Amino acid sequence: MNSNCLACGTPMKGTRENVKDELIGLDGVTLKGVMVYRCLKCGERQLGIYKIAEMHRQLAMAVARRREKLGPKEIRFLRKYLGLSSKDFADKMGVDKTTVSKWERVDAPAPMGQPAERLLRLMVMVDRPVEEYPLEETGLVEARPIRMVLEEGKGSQAWRIVPS
Ligand SMILES: [Zn+2]
Repeated sequence: MNSNCLACGTPMKGTRENVKDELIGLDGVTLKGVMVYRCLKCGERQLGIYKIAEMHRQLAMAVARRREKLGPKEIRFLRKYLGLSSKDFADKMGVDKTTVSKWERVDAPAPMGQPAERLLRLMVMVDRPVEEYPLEETGLVEARPIRMVLEEGKGSQAWRIVPS
């Protein structure tokens, strides 16, 4: 498959290559056999990555499941995978924005505490749109005894919470 250079319009030819992906911003990740298009006229390089969202998902799951502590680039990658700005991420994690930038500082990162690290991994592993988890609204109201009524349901929903 051929495509034209986005910079100068010259037809480019693609070859399959292994790409150490600087686009992802993670060290040690290689994309195997990716179509790379090069423009012989202006030197522009374009990658043709198949199902890029799925590639990101697989990678995010693998990073979230690693036993090793998360490094600054990994934290940033997972945050971006979740589609969160630093501000939104800070709100979800219950920290201020400067804490997020310290976690993501490559030269001298501040260590992420274990509860925060587990929460981030969990947010990735549940693999649903993050809007469904209004984490920033939790834990802000003063404690009160729980009053809930659970009713036996039918079918796949064995139990459900009903108005008391
Ligand atoms: Zn070009």
